[in-house]
Amino acid sequence: MRKFKSAALGSVLLMASGAMAAPIQVLLVDGASGGSFHNWRLTTPVLKAELEETGLFQVTVAIAPESGGDFSSFKPEFGKYQVIVSNYDAPEWPADLRRQLEQFVHQGGGLVVVHAADNAFPGWPEYNEMTGIGGWRNRNEQAGPMWYFKEGKLVSDDSPGPAGSHGARLPIKIVTREPEHPIMKGLPPVWMHATDELYATLRGPGKNMTVLATAHSDPENKGTGHDEPMLIVLSYGKGRIFHTTLGHDVMALSCVGFMTTLQRGTEWVATGKVTQPVPASFPTANTVSYRVDIAAMDPAFRKGILTTATPADAMAKPAPPQK
Ligand code: ZN
Repeated sequence: MRKFKSAALGSVLLMASGAMAAPIQVLLVDGASGGSFHNWRLTTPVLKAELEETGLFQVTVAIAPESGGDFSSFKPEFGKYQVIVSNYDAPEWPADLRRQLEQFVHQGGGLVVVHAADNAFPGWPEYNEMTGIGGWRNRNEQAGPMWYFKEGKLVSDDSPGPAGSHGARLPIKIVTREPEHPIMKGLPPVWMHATDELYATLRGPGKNMTVLATAHSDPENKGTGHDEPMLIVLSYGKGRIFHTTLGHDVMALSCVGFMTTLQRGTEWVATGKVTQPVPASFPTANTVSYRVDIAAMDPAFRKGILTTATPADAMAKPAPPQK
């Protein structure tokens, strides 16, 4: 009798601590990118591993056809998931699929947009409302103003010009703008993100958008001189969105700062809360911190990733000029 009682109490405690909670179901969509410079076949397994190692998420991958492909057998059933993570960049989707994603987020589903996923779908207004800002694929002032921080405040700038630019890949100093937001709570006010592209001149409606963190785009590195949005949250209907402009390649994804914000952002879009602690290895104001086991998921790592940071397939053909 006593034994039974303590076993029952044990399971009550486990339930209370969340250890027995069902994992958050995540659908990671990939299958296309704007060129060979974004190797989704390499980066998707990294994103999946980073989410699943928290124990909070179960990740299913859905490989979507490229624009104009045969979508007849692509039935992602968004409603079975709490979060959709997009690692997908293509110009267009069929109307019924667009409507399904709109309904999913509008009714309270979570969406996470990683790096070049904000290049996708320039002609889909609802998607651009979900991401807030995006670049390339012939976007210009028609896509909306540029958004950046000026004297500590988010401003919009409707001067004309193309959308989307970045300089050489360098470590990026990330500055927190919303320290009390659940995703940012406990993170240092300033930290160094590992080598990555610093997206600038992104344009979009910027509706229901809060910029959590920015980085200075350095004119010495083809930058704007502005403090550009890096981590963003938005709402669309009842749905929450986390948009990180970071994450060009496996090296960038291996940054402990990237990982932590991805993991926290994905939990927040699902539940509105963040229960994950900040890891002790989180980068500081002058120190990058990356996970070697994650970085080594890129086969180029063995050849010396800092000198061969361009994926082998991108070196085979010249990259189009806009990315
Ligand atoms: Zn990129």
